[in-house]
Amino acid sequence: MNVLKEVLVPGGFARSFDAKKGQLLKIIDIEGQQVADFFSFNRNNLKEKLSPSHSYMSALSLQIKPGYILRTDLRIPMFEVIEATSKRHDLLLPACDEQRYIVDYGIKEAHRNCVQNFEDVLEKYNLNRENFNNPVNLFQKTRITDDYEIVQETGDSKPGDYILLECKMDIIGAISACPIDVNPIAGSKITDILIQVLE
Ligand SMILES: [Zn+2]
Repeated sequence: MNVLKEVLVPGGFARSFDAKKGQLLKIIDIEGQQVADFFSFNRNNLKEKLSPSHSYMSALSLQIKPGYILRTDLRIPMFEVIEATSKRHDLLLPACDEQRYIVDYGIKEAHRNCVQNFEDVLEKYNLNRENFNNPVNLFQKTRITDDYEIVQETGDSKPGDYILLECKMDIIGAISACPIDVNPIAGSKITDILIQVLE
């Protein structure tokens, strides 16, 4: 496997990248416990995008593990999970946006957020929040209780944990190293994520 390119996503910010069908994406949680919101679009039809809900509907599972197929909103396979050294990833929750901090946490000052981060790096493809779906929230630990309540817990990914995905189509991707610091999901600090495209 050769590393074709590396993209470092600074903690609290986002970066975009592209990859071709058959190439592998390795997304690495460098220091551990850092949530990485992940969006992806069909390079040849930017209206078609990665969809967590269509993925878990087909898989009938919320557990991302080797063999799991991540699908688009047209139910077409976009990625196959090849390896996942951390078991906990979230397929349920939307990306944080300005309103998340205002409505849910009462924070009046502007707070960095994933939706704005994605708009910043996807503007060059004419993609904005009107085109976004929910992300796949890599390294985010969400638990459903027996009473169907949703509990957000501190991630348990370790330094160097990664997920390896095989691209099933040409894609434009973006990852935001989520800047949320008002709940326990990212532990005590916001850290960097590394993306490698391999062939
Ligand atoms: Zn976020």
